[in-house]
Amino acid sequence: MTIETILPIPDLFSAKRILCIQPHYDDNDIAAAGILTQLSKQGAELFYLTATDDLMGVVDVSLSDDEAANVLRRDQFVAGKIVGVKEQYWLGYPDAGEYNYFDLRRDFLKYIRLLKPDFVFAPDAWLTYEGHRDHIQTGFAAAEAVMFAELTKIASSDPAVDAAYEPHSIDGIALYYTREPNTIVDITSAWEEKVAAVRCYEAQFDSQGMEQLIMALDAKSQQVAQGKSFMRGEPLKVLHTSALHCGF
Ligand SMILES: [Zn+2]
Repeated sequence: MTIETILPIPDLFSAKRILCIQPHYDDNDIAAAGILTQLSKQGAELFYLTATDDLMGVVDVSLSDDEAANVLRRDQFVAGKIVGVKEQYWLGYPDAGEYNYFDLRRDFLKYIRLLKPDFVFAPDAWLTYEGHRDHIQTGFAAAEAVMFAELTKIASSDPAVDAAYEPHSIDGIALYYTREPNTIVDITSAWEEKVAAVRCYEAQFDSQGMEQLIMALDAKSQQVAQGKSFMRGEPLKVLHTSALHCGF
């Protein structure tokens, strides 16, 4: 008996409902648009939940906050069409600002109980040298919300959602932006769609910044596929939800 037989790495490609939690508007797609495009094509429903308002990253500083929010959502909507996102949700916490960790976790619990995903995507909170607190907080809060979803004594931010919730099992969590992947997904056939989706996020990159991002993604996608039978990959740490606690 091995730990892998007790807590096997769950099969991401059997997921039917996937909640993709991200700190900023573009993180799901920068990290995993290749995988997510393939999942939506094979019939999975994708739900995106964005933690912050992302206003600090908008390149055109002459825009009002309302105007900036509109262009961010426009970009995200167009990218979502390419990837096949079914629904977008936003929490509006201040980008790079001060907000309460437990408020964030309560909101993640709400959406997990409301949407009942069988898989959750989130940034890897344990990524070494991650300097952006939004990414760390979002990753931790998502991991805890996945672990605690069925523990209904732990309240979400919406009592009505909690009252209506009937416990369901989440097969696994897929941590993106990870340095310790256990899964490299072949995204060779979805590479053009990934680039097209990332290019939609015009509000957050000037043309030079966008070209640098695409070049970095290009190099990274080929680097992680070295030694594999395919040309481009995206790395994930895919874990059984019980593997999020006590080192299993
Ligand atoms: Zn981000």
